[in-house]
Amino acid sequence: MDYDIAIIGLGPAGSTLARLLSPSFKIIALDKKNQTGHDGFHKPCGGLLANDAQKSFVRQKLNIPADILTDPQIFSVKTIDLQTQLVRNYQRSYISFNRHKFDLWLKSLIPETVTVLHNTLCKEVRRIIDGYQVTYVDENNREQKFTAQYVVGADGANSIVRRMRYPKHSIRQYVAIQQWFAEKHTTPFYSCIFDNNLTNCYAWSMSKDGYFILGGAFAKKEANQHFEKLKQKLTQQGFIFSDLVKTEKCLVIYPNRLRDFYTGNENIFLIGEAAGFISASSLEGISYALDSAEILSKILNSGQAKPNKLYYQKTLLLRLKLYSKIIKAKILTTPMWRKLIMKIKIQHIETN
Ligand SMILES: Cc1cc2nc3c(=O)[nH]c(=O)nc-3n(C[C@H](O)[C@H](O)[C@H](O)COP(=O)(O)OP(=O)(O)OC[C@H]3O[C@@H](n4cnc5c(N)ncnc54)[C@H](O)[C@@H]3O)c2cc1C
Repeated sequence: MDYDIAIIGLGPAGSTLARLLSPSFKIIALDKKNQTGHDGFHKPCGGLLANDAQKSFVRQKLNIPADILTDPQIFSVKTIDLQTQLVRNYQRSYISFNRHKFDLWLKSLIPETVTVLHNTLCKEVRRIIDGYQVTYVDENNREQKFTAQYVVGADGANSIVRRMRYPKHSIRQYVAIQQWFAEKHTTPFYSCIFDNNLTNCYAWSMSKDGYFILGGAFAKKEANQHFEKLKQKLTQQGFIFSDLVKTEKCLVIYPNRLRDFYTGNENIFLIGEAAGFISASSLEGISYALDSAEILSKILNSGQAKPNKLYYQKTLLLRLKLYSKIIKAKILTTPMWRKLIMKIKIQHIETN
């Protein structure tokens, strides 16, 4: 084998694993993003660090550099039900940051003992005796191959590792669309928007660094059309969409069964969103990416036999927590329950 461990994808999950693995392993990690500059792949994301992700940072003794943070930091989420016209304000302690800078920063923490290939696309993971052969296209557009004993799929929602190795473990995918506008609202704000006529997931908006970002997750077929309808409805609510700066789109997984969380087998491990680890109720996924990477690093570093079985067992709590988010999502996206919760004003903070 050329390497002990190959990590495919260096988002929060892959970068964290590459940082935490023992230097005694021979590791290769590849990612389609450019390490420098602003061209190439940028992950569309709200860029909000939730409480659980902050806890992972505490455990991993990480402090976020100030230049990754964005302005302003907002502590309230205006929740809007477009069907009932109910509006509530909930307190949240999110940290707002620039997602691309955040990813590059986590990548920069990977030790030099790891071979990192930037701007590199993984094309195939093929089973061979005692391991796997990985085929990738390098930054000069040349096809290359290497072999590794263990392969870690940390390649996000549209994971090639999961699709190629476990085609039977497909998972519901939605299209996430985000549009960036020049900020014209007098007071910056976050919002969370529900409307079952447009999506059985949800939409969101946020003000960041002088931009106003509207996003939403929609069933694939009608994604564009429903995003436009959403904008029309929100314009009537006083939202201002002017001077479009950019549109971003990507797939996002929307788990709805316990078996959607799949951790891999036969020396392949799935971590982060590739494993299905994302909250169905908020689409928050960074904490689960960090946590699954940490769990896998401990197992591989300990050198114990049957690492796949152990990884499956040690992620049980994480999977149960994510299952509770599926139940929460089902409640929040059911108009009757949502209306009831908003009507009784539980945790709602009145504004002046
Ligand atoms: C629109 C949107 C908004 C979101 N907002 C938030 C939020 O505010 N807060 C939050 O906590 N979560 C949010 N999430 C979820 C969060 O972005 C993901 O759950 C999280 O990024 C998962 O991390 P990951 O490392 O598993 O995967 P990713 O972050 O998706 O990283 C995968 C990496 O793999 C690389 N890659 C993919 N395929 C290949 C390939 N074939 N070859 C080589 N490299 C490859 C990509 O370059 C990427 O760097 C949001 C998601 C979406 C879609």
